[in-house]
Amino acid sequence: MNHDDCVFCKIVRGELPSAKVYEDESVYAFLDISQVTEGHTLVIPKMHATDIYELPEDVAGNLFRPIPKIARAIKRAYRPIGINLLNNNEAGAGQTVFHIHIHIIPRYSGISDGFNVKWVRRDGEYDYDRLGQIAERIAKHMNE
Ligand code: 5GP
Ligand code: ZN
Repeated sequence: MNHDDCVFCKIVRGELPSAKVYEDESVYAFLDISQVTEGHTLVIPKMHATDIYELPEDVAGNLFRPIPKIARAIKRAYRPIGINLLNNNEAGAGQTVFHIHIHIIPRYSGISDGFNVKWVRRDGEYDYDRLGQIAERIAKHMNE
């Protein structure tokens, strides 16, 4: 995609409005327009990268570094019962804006909480032989 047309690049450049929560040299954090829960914040690299596959290691480090500080600020401000971090990559995983972003989603009890993850556990179905095969299959591709 042409970065000129990327909505989050436009926010970084100040061409679109945003509610800023945090900013440093390489990272910008602002409230998600959809506020799945109150305080729902997006953390993005100022540099355009589409998704996790494209993210250089140093940019990944810079992107994650302020997240604990931002999470603690949300926790102090809202006293949520918990906080989820979420990062969707590719349309198949629900990505709708193709500039990588980490969602910080404070959780509340009751109706003000619009977040839901379906997480079907398969405890006991995989033994360590099978887990070892899977790990090896992934590890083989680590340095390509
Ligand atoms: P994704 O579905 O790609 O993980 O998340 C994209 C998020 O960006 C959505 O939660 C959506 O509400 C948010 N979003 C999309 N456009 C804008 C915008 O112009 N401003 C803000 N603040 N958030 C946006
Ligand atoms: Zn962008």
